[in-house]
Amino acid sequence: MIEERFDAIVVGAGPSGNAAAYTMAKEGLKVLQLERGEYPGSKNVQGAILYANALEKLIPDFREDAPLERHIIEQRIWTMDDKSYVGMHYRSEDFNEERPNRYTIIRAQFDKWFSRKVREAGATLLCETTVKELLRDAKGKVIGVRTDRDNGVAFADVVILGEGVNGLVGQRSGLRSELKPDSVALAVKEMHFLPREVIESRFNLKDNEGVVIEAMGTITAGMTGTAFLYTNQESISVGIGCIVSDFAENGATPYGLLEAFKNHPSIKPLLANSECKEYAAHLIPEGGYNSIPELYGDGWIVVGDAGQFVNAVHREGSNLAMTTGRIAGETVVWLKRRREELSKANLAEYKRRLDETFVMKDLKKYRRIPAFLHNNKHVFGLYPKLVAAAAQTWFRVDGADKLSKEKEILKSFRKGRTLSGLIGDAFKLARSWR
Ligand SMILES: Cc1cc2nc3c(=O)[nH]c(=O)nc-3n(C[C@H](O)[C@H](O)[C@H](O)COP(=O)(O)OP(=O)(O)OC[C@H]3O[C@@H](n4cnc5c(N)ncnc54)[C@H](O)[C@@H]3O)c2cc1C
Repeated sequence: MIEERFDAIVVGAGPSGNAAAYTMAKEGLKVLQLERGEYPGSKNVQGAILYANALEKLIPDFREDAPLERHIIEQRIWTMDDKSYVGMHYRSEDFNEERPNRYTIIRAQFDKWFSRKVREAGATLLCETTVKELLRDAKGKVIGVRTDRDNGVAFADVVILGEGVNGLVGQRSGLRSELKPDSVALAVKEMHFLPREVIESRFNLKDNEGVVIEAMGTITAGMTGTAFLYTNQESISVGIGCIVSDFAENGATPYGLLEAFKNHPSIKPLLANSECKEYAAHLIPEGGYNSIPELYGDGWIVVGDAGQFVNAVHREGSNLAMTTGRIAGETVVWLKRRREELSKANLAEYKRRLDETFVMKDLKKYRRIPAFLHNNKHVFGLYPKLVAAAAQTWFRVDGADKLSKEKEILKSFRKGRTLSGLIGDAFKLARSWR
């Protein structure tokens, strides 16, 4: 292990760790980054949509050489029952802009690229190195890490934990409690390969345009969760995830759900004749604002998924990871320049800065959503069925007059959920939304 002392040690080379390491190294700090995977990205799973804005704040010209797949010009949101979907699609030529706003990426390639930028900025990266625990001085201040390497200790003024959702180092060191099964989702994902022209003709695309589908409904077998399908250049990412405690109660398996989703009559033709080459499973922290652990202390900061920074409503995670990593890095640089200690009191600046960003504002806005979804599972079963039945009644031309059709639709909603149930759900949802 490296004997010298560092300004900062960063645990993890995902988006949060890379953002933190890049920010500090670029400003001349001596940074050691430790990654347990064989290479950055080897352990990481994402859909994956990259939100340009968060990366632009770090590397403004990233489009010049980052491995991007397709820029997204069309967003589809589907509510599904077993045979159909009702969709809201938004497609705009405005998304064919010079600096597109969202891209699909493949994380193994993207993380390698991001890591190269971190090393070019001056950070030292050690892969295949798992951090086991934090080291503290007699007063309890974190002063370094112990790794699984021989004589594997390293020292620094601050340790930034970008270790992802499991957060085992933080947990073992008593900085956070164990993950709660009702605030974490288990997601599975496959990559299906198809020739570029087939994808473009199936989704009505040209050049590097892309389409993404986010779906909910009976596909999650009554559990809280969503599914997705994203177009890459020569592959399609398809996945589904549900809250872990729901899997335990329901008995369904993630693989079973993904198979059913892929075989849904609206999804199957989109994947037809593709070759599945990759399969992955990963947790997503979905507890939101109320499950955010302590974020800083004497000599340590938590960033990214380890801090539960995922906006499950909008399916954003990597941008929150990059933003929290960047702000942690900027805080450390700022304190170092002022020759301040990296004590708990001074690192509170990290949280103060975060509170001013979309990260905390959005998570706070949606703080009631996880409980709403947990307590109202019919949102994932009953409503998609009612909406699909209503659409069928409305669109089928069968000799019935339109007023009778409206009455039939209203009756089916009242029968399915009762008037007070419908009003109650609308009220609870509106309350959770702000
Ligand atoms: C199926 C799925 C789909 C998703 N889709 C999207 C999407 O489309 N868009 C989006 O923005 N977000 C999405 N997310 C969320 C997104 O992937 C995460 O929010 C993001 O990766 C968090 O970044 P991170 O750096 O905090 O953690 P990670 O990306 O998990 O990186 C943590 C890193 O730390 C390393 N590590 C862990 N423990 C140790 C240790 N003890 N020592 C050394 N290294 C360690 C790991 O190997 C890993 O490389 C998705 C997640 C999943 C699972």
